Parts: sequence; structure tokens; C-alpha cells
Amino acid sequence: MKYKCTRNTNTQVTGAQAIVQGIAKDGGLFVPETLPQYTHKDFAEMQNGTYIDRAVKVLSDFLPEFTKEEITQCVAAAYKQEKFSGGHPAPISVVRSEKVHMNILELWHGPTCAFKDMALQLLPHLLTHSLKITKCDKTAVILVATSGDTGKAALEGFKDVDQTKMLVFYPENGVSLMQKRQMNTQEGNNVSVCAIKGNFDDAQTGVKNLFVNKQVCQMLEDNGMVFSSANSINWGRLLPQIVYYFSAYCDLLKAGTIKTVGDKINVVVPTGNFGNILAAYYAMKMGLPIHRLICASNSNNVLTEFLKTGIYDRNREFYTTISPSMDIVISSNLERLLFDVTEHDTEKVAGWMWQLSQTGRYQVDEKTLEAIQSIFSADYCDDKATEETIAKTYKNTHYLCDTHTAVAVYVYEKYLKETNDNTPTVVVSTASPYKFTDSVLKAVCANYDETADEFTKVQQLSKETETEIPAPISALEEKQVRFQNLCTPDTMLDELLNMLHLK
Ligand SMILES: *Cc1c(COP(=O)(O)O)cnc(C)c1O
Repeated sequence: MKYKCTRNTNTQVTGAQAIVQGIAKDGGLFVPETLPQYTHKDFAEMQNGTYIDRAVKVLSDFLPEFTKEEITQCVAAAYKQEKFSGGHPAPISVVRSEKVHMNILELWHGPTCAFKDMALQLLPHLLTHSLKITKCDKTAVILVATSGDTGKAALEGFKDVDQTKMLVFYPENGVSLMQKRQMNTQEGNNVSVCAIKGNFDDAQTGVKNLFVNKQVCQMLEDNGMVFSSANSINWGRLLPQIVYYFSAYCDLLKAGTIKTVGDKINVVVPTGNFGNILAAYYAMKMGLPIHRLICASNSNNVLTEFLKTGIYDRNREFYTTISPSMDIVISSNLERLLFDVTEHDTEKVAGWMWQLSQTGRYQVDEKTLEAIQSIFSADYCDDKATEETIAKTYKNTHYLCDTHTAVAVYVYEKYLKETNDNTPTVVVSTASPYKFTDSVLKAVCANYDETADEFTKVQQLSKETETEIPAPISALEEKQVRFQNLCTPDTMLDELLNMLHLK
């Protein structure tokens, strides 16, 4: 199994190299050359295994240069039961909500209460092994641009991991209070956090520019360091996400919700950078029986428009919403989908990405659009509908969902009305409602008091809805703020050099 680059046919690297490097030198993304194919027999086998067994199987097929022992070690360390609370035997949990005819795949029982833990608890282990395998003795310098959840999950995954340093940038006014507090109180000697005057795309563009800045790369190299990435452009982020789609399918089979291996499901994913839904797409291409992939956006609906028209246009107003982890107008992982549906046409993909960087817009050809639309449906949900969905879902089913999950629920219900497609459906739930306490409380509580402090609201939400406060959230109240730096897109480099003591 080798990895190619989405923009250049000459690049070929191993999985370990792809994980160390993060992004290709020309700005393209690493993608597997072929995808392993799973048969019904594989599903029967996986059904009998634990989550760890399922993850070991999938990862082994993608990372042949790792030994089975290494992979098992990585996976077992990542998904230790004490890190994933909620009393579940697996790090994920499929909740069946009878009244709304949905299966909700909760991916947020990890240490930071967002689905990104599923990948970011595993990535540091994959990275340190990859450094060893590629005989790299340099320190990996990991830059992260975050719209909230990635930052905390990455910090928590990488804190005090040998041979790594991490700097996280987040948009000053683009994350929830709880997310900000989670990041600014982060522990660990190798990590740092900085707010940026700008939105998520400014942060992401700034990080990408640093990655490809030859002078900076040379400076790092001269000092025994090398850039790496923990954003979902890193293959090591996507790979762990493929696992839970297989695992959820196995769990549904076991529970009898799906009667026979091979019966199809729909998957609805609240989407930002297109990483999570792309993992579902890869799972489908590997043989997971998926009928439709439904992409749910918030008011930053660039993907809805693209999937409906074939026109990707980032020249639009940017909205700061109550589902901030999806406040994105450049969805980086879409590039990998384009590569796949054009049957690896690097020239075409590079052309579109060049247009995007030059004009902020591109339009795919008819054939590409048809290929995409044969699999994907898309819609979006604004803040008002998000709040109404949280309230309605709670009232009708007693299921309390966070703002991102609510976007998916809304889009799914709309899809159902429009299509009457009664395929069993998995709605992906990406964060604990307590990560977005303010918005969730406002939606479900009649005597909501905006001025109350964040932790009072947490208590109130728990009382009002008789749900448990996740331990990592309650623990925040006691923690000291460690980071208060603020920079602009132009001074991100200074922040980096300061942190690395290169200035
Ligand atoms: C990151 C995130 C998303 C978006 O996931 P992508 O892989 O970027 O599409 C959705 N919901 C939550 C809570 C997130 O943290």
C-alpha cells in the first residue's frame, strides 16, 4: 500500500511518510493508491470483535509497514477505557431514538467531548511510530488551525508526547467560551495556544502558508525539526475515522437494526472540513453498504451549493454560527473526493485547486458532478432552525443533542420529507451538548438567563434535562488559564519562532 498526491502523479510515499509529512510539498494531499476491499466474510468477522479488533484490522490494511503489534499497541493506548467515559465498552456508542427513526452515532465520549478525539487520541501514537519507521530523529513541529474542537483534541492527544511540539491557532471570536477555556487551560510542556484576529479560514491559510514557506522549513531543518500536521489534511487523522463507520454497521447488525449483511444504510454527517464524511465515503468504497451520504452544513453552506451545482465558490459572506466547528468556507478534504471521483486525474484536481487559490472559485465538469451526486445529498440549517431542532428533538424524544448534531438531524428530517427514503440511517453526533452549553440551554430551557456564568449554565442544563455533565467539562472550572496570546495573520510566524526559541 503506497500513497499518492492529489496534485502530482510522480509523488509516491509510504503511509508512515504521509503521516510524518502531513501535506505534500506542492500543497496536495496524500491519498491511498488503492482501497482494501471488504467482503461479507470480513463483516461477519468484524462483528465478533471489539472496537480495538476492528480498528486493528482496518489500520493494518492501510499501514503495512507497521507490525501488527505496533498497530495493536497504538490502538489500545488511544482508546483506553478510562479515557472514554460514559460507561461504554467501546469508545463510540450507537443510540437508537425510536420516535425519530434514527440511529445516532455518538462519537464524543473521549477526553475533550468531541468526535475529534477518535482520531487525535490515535494520531500521536501513529506519528511517533511513523517517525521511528522513517528513521526520522527530528522533532515534529505540529501547527494546528482550529475552529474549536480540533485544537483541544490535538492538544490533549499530543501533550507531553516525546519528539513533538504543538502550536494551536484559533479565531479570537470564532469558538465557544467552553472551547476557549478548554484550550487556554491546556497542560503539557510541549504545547502552546494563540488566538488570531480573523476567522478560521485566516488561521488555516496562515498555517498552510507556513508549511510551504521554504525559508521557515529550512530554519526548522537546521535546528533538528520538521513540520507536521494534525489537521484533517493529515492521512493519520482520516484513517481512524474510517473505522467507526464499519464498527457502527457491525453494532447495528448485532442489534438487529440491520437484518442482513449487505443491507444498506444512509449516513448523515454534520460537515465542516469534509474529513468525517470523506471517511464514510472511503468506507463505502471499501465495501460498506451505504446508499446515500448526506452532507449537512450550517449557514456557511458552500458545500451544499457545491454538491447541488458543481460550483465551489468561497467568495461569500462568512457567518459565525452556534455550530462553530463547521464555520468553514474552504473544505480542504473535498480535494481528496475530487481526486477519487475523477479516477485520480491529478491534472484536473491541481487545476481546480489553482483556480480556487487564484479566484476563490471553480466549477467541476458534468461527469464529475454526476459521479458525486450519485452518492451525496446535501442541505444546510441556519442557527434558528438549529435551536428549534434541539428543542423539538428534546421535547419529542428526550434526546439532547449539541448544535452540530442538530444540524445533521434537521437536514436528515428534511431529506426524509423530500425523498421518503426509508433506508436505515445513521446520524453522526459529533459533540457533547455540554461543549455548547449556552446554545443548548437557550434552546431547551424556558427561564434561560444569558448573563449567568458558563458553569452555572452547565449545572442548570444538567438539572433541567437530567443528563450527566461529562467529567472533562466539570474539571475545567478549577483549571488555571495558561495562554492569553493574540496575534494577526501576519504575526503567526513570530508566534511560532518564539515558541520554538528560534528568535
Ligand atoms: C470538526 C467538527 C465537525 C466537522 O467535521 P469535518 O471532519 O471537519 O467535516 C463537526 N462537528 C464537530 C463538533 C466538530 O468538532
